[in-house]
Amino acid sequence: MRRDLVAMTITQEPETTSAGKNRPDLGRATHLSCRECAATVELGPHYACMECFGPLEVAYAYGTVTRESIEAGPASIWRYKDLLPVPSNVADIPNTEPGFTPLLRADNLARELGMKTLWVKNDAANPTHSFKDRVVAVALAAARELGFTVLACPSTGNLANAVAAAAARAGIRSFVFIPSDLEQQKIVTSAVYGTTLVAVEGNYDDVNRLASELAGQHEDWAFVNVNVRPYYAEGSKTLGYETAEQLGWRLPRQVVIPVASGAQLVKVDKAFGELVSLGLVEGEQPAIFGAQAEGCSPVSTAFKEGRNVVKPVRPSTIAKSLAIGNPADGPYVLDITRRTGGAVEDVTDDEVVEGIRLLARTEGVFAETAGGVTVAVLAKLLREGQLDPGAETVIFNTGEGLKTLDAVAPVVGPAGTIEPTTEAFRALVPEA
Ligand SMILES: *Cc1c(COP(=O)(O)O)cnc(C)c1O
Ligand SMILES: [Zn+2]
Repeated sequence: MRRDLVAMTITQEPETTSAGKNRPDLGRATHLSCRECAATVELGPHYACMECFGPLEVAYAYGTVTRESIEAGPASIWRYKDLLPVPSNVADIPNTEPGFTPLLRADNLARELGMKTLWVKNDAANPTHSFKDRVVAVALAAARELGFTVLACPSTGNLANAVAAAAARAGIRSFVFIPSDLEQQKIVTSAVYGTTLVAVEGNYDDVNRLASELAGQHEDWAFVNVNVRPYYAEGSKTLGYETAEQLGWRLPRQVVIPVASGAQLVKVDKAFGELVSLGLVEGEQPAIFGAQAEGCSPVSTAFKEGRNVVKPVRPSTIAKSLAIGNPADGPYVLDITRRTGGAVEDVTDDEVVEGIRLLARTEGVFAETAGGVTVAVLAKLLREGQLDPGAETVIFNTGEGLKTLDAVAPVVGPAGTIEPTTEAFRALVPEA
C-alpha cells in the first residue's frame, strides 16, 4: 500500500521523500549529513551514508532561537523543539512529554568527595524513569511524520520501557526485543504497557542484529535506535540544553556521562556546541568525561591505550543498561573526550554498588546501576587527579534505582527485627 503511494506521488510531486509523503515537517531540520564524509541526504528513513556507511546527522537551518523563545515553551523537551527534528506542532501530539528534570545541587556528595560545586541532573524523574524517554519522544514524533506506523526497538531495558509507554500513549502497536537475562523489574515495567515484548536468547549485540534484520523486512516499523537513529539520537541533546538553562544559561566546566553506545555523550557535546554558536551561552566547551563498567569497557580501554579503534567485548556486568559490547559511537566518544580535555574511565561492579549507596546516602537520590557507574567514575577520576575538584561539575543520573533493586538488595536492609517494645528498640540502637 505504501509502495503504491510512493510510486504515485513521485511522478506527480517533485517535493516527495522516499517515505511516500510530501516533504516532512521536521521543524527546522533541513537534511541529513554524513558525519564522516559530509555527503548530503534528504530527510527520510535513512540512517547510514550510501557513500561510506558513516552515521547520518540531522542538519538544521537554525534561524533565530532566543532564551526567551525557549523559556516561553512547555516544561518538557518540547521547549527546545526548534533545535530538534520534530514537527512544529509537536507539543500538541500525544507523547510522553519527558524532560525538564531536576538539576540538584549536590553539596553533601561534593563535601564527601572534596569537591567545590557539584550538580546531579536527575533523569530518573522522566515518565518511565530514565533518559531514554527523551530519545524515544523525538523518535516517535519524527517516525510518525516519516510515515511509520509501528514503533520497535532492541533494548538493554530502559529503552524497552520508554518505547512501550510512548507507543501506548500514541495509540500505536509496538514490538520490543530484549536479552532474556534482563532484570525482572525492567521486564515487568515494559510488558505492563501492552507492548509485544520478545525475550531473545543472547546478549544485546545479538538482539540488535536481529532487530536490524527485521527492520529490513518491515518497512512500516520504526526501530527507534536502528532505522530512525539519526532522529532518535538528537533527543539526547536536550540533556545538554537543560543543564545549561538550569544553571542560568551557563555551561559547567566538567560533565560526567555514562557510556553505552556513546550516543548520549556525543549529542550532549553537540548541544553545548550549538548553544555557544547560537549565542545562547558564553564560554568554553566543558571537559567531557565518559563512564563505563569494567565488565563492559571497550571505550575506556581504547582511551587508556591511546587507540582510536574500539575493540568489541562480550559484556559481563551488573550495569546492564550500559552493556553494549560494540558501541556505535565509541570512536566519537574518544574524539570528544580527548578534544575537550576529558577522559573515559571504568569501575568494578563493587564500586558501582558503592556509587549507588553513596549517592543515595548523601543526596537522597536512588540511582540504577548506570548512575552508580557515573558516581563511582567521578570518585575514581578525582582520586586519580584527572578531574579538577575546584571546577563546577555536573553528573548525569540517567536511571532509577527501583529498576535494578537486585544490585543493592544483598547489601542494605533493616538494622534489625525487634518485638514491638521500647526495650527491644533500645537494645538494638543503644545510642538513640
Ligand atoms: C541507554 C542508557 C545509557 C547510555 O546511553 P547511550 O546513548 O547508548 O550511550 C545511560 N544510562 C542509562 C540508564 C541508559 O538506559
Ligand atoms: Zn559518508
